[in-house]
Amino acid sequence: MNQPGATRPRRKRAYTLRGVATPFRILVVEDEPVIRELVRSLLSESDCQVEAAANGVEGLKLARTQSFDLILLDVVLPQMDGITVCRMLKADPATAKVPLHMLTAKAKKSDVEAAERAGADGYIHKPFRGAELLDLVTQLKAKRPGG
Ligand code: CA
Repeated sequence: MNQPGATRPRRKRAYTLRGVATPFRILVVEDEPVIRELVRSLLSESDCQVEAAANGVEGLKLARTQSFDLILLDVVLPQMDGITVCRMLKADPATAKVPLHMLTAKAKKSDVEAAERAGADGYIHKPFRGAELLDLVTQLKAKRPGG
């Protein structure tokens, strides 16, 4: 019988080995080396492991063969554009749950609309501030199993 106010045995919080042992892994898909390096240098200080791909095909391949905690995806990419990559990742149950944020040009409203239609979890306007990126990572880290 459930008595009001009775303390229920608390379930122990399940810490996954993965959450404790692995760093926060980010995939950045961006054809501009300067931006790839910027992301890498911004995030390397915050306990993140950053993998980079220079085009859509390579990005899709990495996203499907490794596990990531966040994918940052540029819109305009060689070989396969970011919107297509996003749509494919979000259509695949194996990758659909990975937080995916598009890197979009601020001036282009169409970029944002296309990102939303493709199922992106959010977007970061280029040029972005380091603090913006770090905030996003901090938020996602907090949501991750095991912290
Ligand atoms: Ca680009």
